[in-house]
Formats: sequence, C-alpha cells, structure tokens
Amino acid sequence: MPFDPSRALADLRAIADLTGGRDTGGARRVCWTDEWVKARAYVQAELAATGAQIDRDEAGNVWAYLRGSGDGMVIVGSHVDSVPNGGWLDGVLGIAGALEVLRATSEAGTPPCTVAFVDFADEEGARFARSLFGSSAVSGFLVPEELADLRDRDGQRLEDVLRGYDVEISEVLKAGSRLDGAVAYLELHIEQGPVLESEGLAVGTVVGTVGVERLRAHFSGQAAHAGSTPIRQRRDTFLAAARTALELREIALRHDGVCTVGGATSTPGVVTAVPGRTEMLVDQRHIDADTLTAMKAEFVAAAERFAAEEGCTVELEQIWRIEPIPFDPGLIEIARSAVREVTGTDRTLPSGPLHDAAEVARTGVPTVMVFSSSTNGISHAKEEDTPIEHLELALQAYGLAADRVIHGAGTA
Ligand SMILES: [Zn+2]
Repeated sequence: MPFDPSRALADLRAIADLTGGRDTGGARRVCWTDEWVKARAYVQAELAATGAQIDRDEAGNVWAYLRGSGDGMVIVGSHVDSVPNGGWLDGVLGIAGALEVLRATSEAGTPPCTVAFVDFADEEGARFARSLFGSSAVSGFLVPEELADLRDRDGQRLEDVLRGYDVEISEVLKAGSRLDGAVAYLELHIEQGPVLESEGLAVGTVVGTVGVERLRAHFSGQAAHAGSTPIRQRRDTFLAAARTALELREIALRHDGVCTVGGATSTPGVVTAVPGRTEMLVDQRHIDADTLTAMKAEFVAAAERFAAEEGCTVELEQIWRIEPIPFDPGLIEIARSAVREVTGTDRTLPSGPLHDAAEVARTGVPTVMVFSSSTNGISHAKEEDTPIEHLELALQAYGLAADRVIHGAGTA
C-alpha cells in the first residue's frame, strides 16, 4: 500500500478532536501538559500499529524505528506540541506525514535502511520561552545549565516540571546519540506565512532557515524643554531612531530580506520634553550569511549617520544572533522533483521561523523541509488553516520525497 494522504488527514482530524482544533478554540497541546501527553499517546498507538519499536530519549523526544536490511537511517518527524490556542496544523501536519511514511514503509516490507520517526519535545517553548528544546538537545546546542531555573507563569521551575515527565535536565544532551547513523532528515510543515498562497501555490521546497541579527540601539542626546528649545538646536534621539527605522525598510527591500523595528522607548517620555534617550529593538533576517552581514553593516552605518545628523550618539548592543542554516543541496533536489511531479510547480523558499529541522541540519545531518501553503499566512492562532487540496498535495510530495530518499539511502 503506497503513501496515502487521506490516512494522514484522518490523523490530523483525530488529534484535533482529542486536543483542540479550528472549531474548538484552537489546539491545546502545550508541551509538558496532560493534553500534550494525550496527543502523543494517540500518535504512539498509531506508530505501534506499524510494528515500529517505540521509545523515548533523555530529552523527552519520542522515537519509533522500522529496522532496515542495510546501513543508514532516514529520519522523518516534527512536533506534536502547540502554542496555547494554537493552530490545528503547526507541527502535527509533519507528525501525520511522518507517521504515514512509517505506515507506507512498513506495508511495503523491510526497508533498505532504517526509517526513524521522531516527535520532538517542546518545539514551541510556549511554557518556558525556550523554543526547540528537544531538537537542540539532540543537536547538542542546548545548554542545560541555562535552562534549569527558567520558570513558567505560575513560578514553577523547568527542572522540576520536566522531572514530572521523567526528563532530567542534566541528562538531556545524551539524546544526541540518536543521530548516530542518520543520513537524512525530512520534515513537512505549514509555511506559517503568506508567500505560497500569494503566488497561488500549494507546496514549496525549503532551502534553509534564515539567519537572524538582533540588536538594541541606544541613542543618547539631550532632554530639553519642548517649548523653549528651537528645532535646529535639539539633540532629539527619537528623530534619530525614526530616521534609522525608515532606512531599515530600504535596507530590507534592497537585499530582499526583512528588517523589523520591534519597538522603541523614549525617555523622559512626556509630551513637554525632547526625548534625551531612545532605545530601539531591531531584528534583521536573511537566508544568505554575507548578505545578512551587509544588512547589519548598513543598519549600523545608518544609525551612526542619523545619530550624528541629529546631534546624538548611538551604541549598539547585540542581543542574539543565529547564522543562516542552509539545507542539503542533494535533498533539496529530491524534494523539488517530488513537488514538481505532484503539483506541476517548483517554488523554493527560505523559512523565516526556525524549526526542529534547523537544529538537525546544524549537526551536519543532510536535511530538507517541504512547506504547504498557509491560508492568509496565519499561524499560532486558532484561525490557522490550509485548503485540504493543498494539504493532500503537500503530503503526497513529502511522501514521494521520503520514499526516494529511503530507497536511495543505501546507494548514496
Ligand atoms: Zn511548528
């Protein structure tokens, strides 16, 4: 029996019935909660029916293995967890697709290489504000000491909460051994943005996740009376920040990237004073590392120029950064040809959001993702949706790509 998208769609509906979907106020599968466990239990029962061996690693990720006749291991997976009142597709579309890969593979007999399913724990970081928990434990980029004392909204410590789910924070990096022998990782996901839909496309191939530069700009000038200080004698930090913000849009357009001013705060912050200090939060993203470096340099130059022109100074503080994470060229070609055969279209795009796939790719395991369209580009909300025909096409393309990788893995 070949890969059957209708069985994956049935899984998606069953998970939504169990733990929330579009018609019930949104998904309730926040990681480290009872409803997350309930959704995982459904998936594990379905995995067990394929004859796969199921177990959990030290970071709480669920794995299921169909042993192959030869060497190598192809991994398929995503995450069951959601944000509060989340969408019915984020994460679980990839889980349903990966589950169906195991079903179809097991029905076809012993695969030529081992096929592993993974449900990564706490991709969303909804409770403790640390995304990609399970996958970064596997990749080795997680730092347990930084996490133990994180607290949720009710003041509960991460270390204590995880212990309730049999996860010892000091042990989680041992999960890294799960990638031993891995030759490929394939993940299906919704786009969570408007690009495919705006071009009338159902499916796209993801070439990697974008790099991020996140900075805080501190503009310093001089607070002064709003009535007595002539315009030309002001040192107005808000104006310096505002002119920089406008230039950030031009930088983004020039490089086909994105720049966001997430917020700006001025002091003294009263209508009768020229703002003497302004702090501005800036986020820049691009798929190409050199271009991202250029975008950051142009931002810094603009901030310094506009600060000087307004009689102010500026200091830039790096808050966070991550390199672009390109996916594997060979797997991208396999995914593109599968998408082309199933849909008649061939669109590649970078992912703005990070995904578990990015963590796997960082370890050097060849990785690729397939995206379905997202209606109105909305995600992390109960309105999240994708036309059923697009889900079917995306599942079909993903299943075809996975099948080709599994059957090519032994010879690659
Ligand atoms: Zn997701």
